[in-house]
Amino acid sequence: MRIVVDLNRCESYAQCVFAAPTVFWMKDEESLEYDYAPDDSLLVQVERAAAACPVQAISICWLDEQLEQQGGNHSEQQ
Ligand code: SF4
Repeated sequence: MRIVVDLNRCESYAQCVFAAPTVFWMKDEESLEYDYAPDDSLLVQVERAAAACPVQAISICWLDEQLEQQGGNHSEQQ
């Protein structure tokens, strides 16, 4: 899994940090940092973070080989 955060859209609400603290964290009060390639076992947390983001800034992407393994079901989720 790969994560893309649209930092132009991100308003630093930190809802994602609460939902998935090992994937998203605040460097200071205003700048979000994140693991752009978290382990797939964190998918539920990442999906919660994406759902919690008030401005829908978080996108979850899959590599081609992961798509093949999963039958192409997850091209992109928001
Ligand atoms: S929840 Fe959304 S707006 Fe808030 S810090 Fe995370 S990505 Fe940014």
